[in-house]
Amino acid sequence: MTVELISVGTEILLGNIVNTNAAYLSEKCAMLGLSCYHQSVVGDNEERLQDTLKTALSRSDIVILSGGLGPTKDDITKEVAARVFRKPLYEDAHTKERIQEYFLRNHRRQITENNWKQALVPEGAVVIDNHNGTAPGLILEDHGKIVILLPGPPNEIKPMFERDIVPYLTRMQPEGIYSRMVKICSIGESSAETMVSDLMDAQTNPTLAPYAKTGEVHFRVTARAADEKAAEKLMQPMLEELSRRFGDKIYTMCEDVSLEDVVVHMLADQKMTVTTAESCTGGLLAGRLLNVSGASDVYKEGYVTYANESKEHLLDVRHETLETYGAVSEQTAAEMAKGAARAAGADAALGVTGIAGPGGGTPEKPVGLVYIGCYVKGHVRVEECHFTGNRSKNRESAVARALTLLREELLK
Ligand code: ATP
Ligand code: MG
Repeated sequence: MTVELISVGTEILLGNIVNTNAAYLSEKCAMLGLSCYHQSVVGDNEERLQDTLKTALSRSDIVILSGGLGPTKDDITKEVAARVFRKPLYEDAHTKERIQEYFLRNHRRQITENNWKQALVPEGAVVIDNHNGTAPGLILEDHGKIVILLPGPPNEIKPMFERDIVPYLTRMQPEGIYSRMVKICSIGESSAETMVSDLMDAQTNPTLAPYAKTGEVHFRVTARAADEKAAEKLMQPMLEELSRRFGDKIYTMCEDVSLEDVVVHMLADQKMTVTTAESCTGGLLAGRLLNVSGASDVYKEGYVTYANESKEHLLDVRHETLETYGAVSEQTAAEMAKGAARAAGADAALGVTGIAGPGGGTPEKPVGLVYIGCYVKGHVRVEECHFTGNRSKNRESAVARALTLLREELLK
């Protein structure tokens, strides 16, 4: 079945508010297995809303509108939908009672005459109670078409959608969408895609789609099935094929496991501690490691050494090294990693030094040049990286690459 979204509100058209409802609803509908081919935003204007709704109904099975159900004059969604479906509005006693109760419960506000407008519902509509506000949701069915009206405020639409609309749509569309995320590192996006281009070309059910992520490649495997078990069965051969092709470059197949989670757990399993010495990433790397709950088992202290003196003073990077090769060099990165491990008494250390930009680049050492030193139990490996983003992207790329290097070393 196809679904189409219409977000109603001049505020959205003007960019005064961000259309988070559309993002929320599209994601939910996709998970329910509904195909969404169109979304629109329309201002609080009866004629334009009517046209938009009619167009949506001409090409989609289900139309979900959000916003414009409130008590004020510019809230016109219900009136327009009723007109399109040629249904008169009547006062729904149950909704009127709920509005009264809502105002009694939240006695800060005075009930005004226009609040009763929210008790008017189109004939034949299914009324969905609003547990977080006064405007009820409404479902209208006619000639095989469905229109669902939902309130605009996110704190009202979301609980209403979860509680009442999801079960309703599941009855309409019994097959759901289930997916697994395959997360890969140690390989670039285009190489990874080339390695599975045949699988992507041949896809039907399940489908395979790449997601770009800084320093990593994620593939989402998605199956349409009656339940999770059936979906797993459909996805299994594809997951096995990806495992065969990418081997240990796959660091997880769990949606909510991150690269830093995996690195921290590997360190913990190997009873190792780690530290970081950061120049251009200025603590971002430490921050990512410390995203992981339980990181305190493996991480005791780290260093942000931006100035040369700090690299010498805190990490024992040799003065001659800095003089001869510069702060952004293979030698400095190696000494930073070794020095940090020694200073912190850690088994492993990452040293990052580079030119994040936009300033500071030279023809020999351009913006985006980063050296990462990875020290593990007496051995240092240094990698020279050339990133091509802006300052924040370069710093994020360096962090992702550093975590990947450490993972590679820990796998050995
Ligand atoms: P109310 O009873 O508050 O008037 P409503 O159903 O009439 O609710 P709107 O008047 O269209 O909804 O919007 C009310 C508020 O809800 C907006 O000011 C905005 O904060 C939020 N909102 C509306 N639409 C969206 C949207 N598409 N995405 C995110 N927030 C929204
Ligand atoms: Mg409103």
